[in-house]
Amino acid sequence: MLITADQRQNLESLIELAARGRALQHEHDNPEDAGALAELVAKHKDVTAQKASAAEVVETLRTQVADLTAVIEKKNRLIEKKTAELNAGTGLTSRDLVNLQDEIAGHRDKVAELEETELGVMEELETAEAALSEIETGLAEVTAAGRAMQTSIKDRKTEIAGELSEVEDAARKLKAELPDQLVRRFERNVAQGGPGAAILSGPHCQACGQEISGMTWHGMIGNDVNETYECEECEAVLLRRA
Ligand SMILES: [Zn+2]
Repeated sequence: MLITADQRQNLESLIELAARGRALQHEHDNPEDAGALAELVAKHKDVTAQKASAAEVVETLRTQVADLTAVIEKKNRLIEKKTAELNAGTGLTSRDLVNLQDEIAGHRDKVAELEETELGVMEELETAEAALSEIETGLAEVTAAGRAMQTSIKDRKTEIAGELSEVEDAARKLKAELPDQLVRRFERNVAQGGPGAAILSGPHCQACGQEISGMTWHGMIGNDVNETYECEECEAVLLRRA
């Protein structure tokens, strides 16, 4: 089908627009940062598990400290009670007094031993709390980075949607200036996943790569440059390079 020079201009613009539209659609469906976001999501899962186990360690040590403190307090109350009994000395023989003194001394030794143990556990707890806090900081960073990336992907998608609708509007205007039959062929090829139309710079369909026979190609070269063709293989609209 022969088209006018103006229609040729429109068809060339339409080919460029369709390519732009395909690139935008591809970017929309395959965001550049999708891989990086997936990595962040995996890292977030990892660090969350690390945090849970670090928190468990801290919790266990805190319980140990609390238990030791309770035991020490109980012992100290006992020491106070026994010391009061010793000081009162009511109804106690000198042997009782010696025994009581020994008992108190034994409790005091035990308290000293427990306090030393508690001190060791407190040091462990401090280290564990510092590790947990470091993991929490890391987790907050991963979370923030993930959110920022999600937002940026979403924003870019919105931007692309806007650009795509501009491309569609412009394509609609160009199609209105082209013969209906040519537009139908163009759209049929697009529906099949093709570019719609292509410019030939040699004896190969630029849409599907199909070779054009030497005879056909020579015929095309002899024809008007604004003559359009249909690829026998993919049915795209073809136009020889001017
Ligand atoms: Zn083709």
